[in-house]
Amino acid sequence: MYSVSEIVSEATERRRISHEESEYLLSLPEDSSDVSLLIDSAHRFVLDATGSVARIGAQIGVILGPCYADCGFCSFAASTTDTEDYVMSPSELARYLRMINEGGKVSGISLMTIHQFDFDTLLDLVSTARSVLPESIPITINTGDLDPAECRELKSSGADSAYHALRLDESIDNLLEPRQRLETMKNLLAAGIKVISGVEPIGPEHSPKEILDTYWRTYDLGCNCCSASRREAVPGTRMYNSGEISERRLEQIRAALVLSSAWCDRTELGYYGGYYGGLNRALCEYGGSPKDEYEISEHGLGRTVEWAGARLRSEGFGKLLLADGSIGSL
Ligand code: SF4
Repeated sequence: MYSVSEIVSEATERRRISHEESEYLLSLPEDSSDVSLLIDSAHRFVLDATGSVARIGAQIGVILGPCYADCGFCSFAASTTDTEDYVMSPSELARYLRMINEGGKVSGISLMTIHQFDFDTLLDLVSTARSVLPESIPITINTGDLDPAECRELKSSGADSAYHALRLDESIDNLLEPRQRLETMKNLLAAGIKVISGVEPIGPEHSPKEILDTYWRTYDLGCNCCSASRREAVPGTRMYNSGEISERRLEQIRAALVLSSAWCDRTELGYYGGYYGGLNRALCEYGGSPKDEYEISEHGLGRTVEWAGARLRSEGFGKLLLADGSIGSL
């Protein structure tokens, strides 16, 4: 029988805990006092490891429309969407970037596309973003699968990092090929683009073992860090009625993954181990989003820069990494 307080104390000292101990943390009943201890400990650990400095990132949907990957949870899935093809113009992207960066509070920008897209258009948009943003703001791409040459071109046009994941139930809930997802991660890394991966989209049916295996597979592949996010029930999608995990269960999963990888020191993106996001980070969403039934997400889910600041303040963060690389108040 494991002791949660002993596992947590080992992990917060940045000593490696076993796979079985991590699985035990993920298996605890979400309404238990042990889970409260786990979440509180991870929260304190992250506040300490980050010096209470939070970060705000913003994702902009730049190439959208019916997506033939057809993920059952996504508002762009070709079989269920009524979205029309949309490509953001460079001038519209520049307008968005200036608007998002007005207060100097966003320290990372991600450009998101559906799975299939015109590659030269994406290159143009990345170059536009690079010309508008200060060097201190890294550009992340969140896009479909890429071959080695495309990854190298993206690197040359200004992409610093990429979000790419082998999703839970990839090829079951969509039409994508798991091997290609992994190949893309390798291609990005080989081109010198840092890869942030993710365990997603987590639903009630996913076991602790599946979650852990997905998390560690990305580390073994050489990805810089990995996040965790839940499947959101988006009206009109095939999986709308498939159930959602609670906010507390998601916190439990994030806490267990943070502590299970607190010993990792590979990443310069995660800062406190192999985990990324969710604890000292908030990601805003502008333009179209796969998680939103509204065309313009800032008018739908409303995850704006202001929303991000309020969320981070409510979690105890008082400082923020600013767009120019300095630290200011949140
Ligand atoms: S989640 Fe991404 S790959 Fe899947 S349907 Fe939506 S846009 Fe396409």
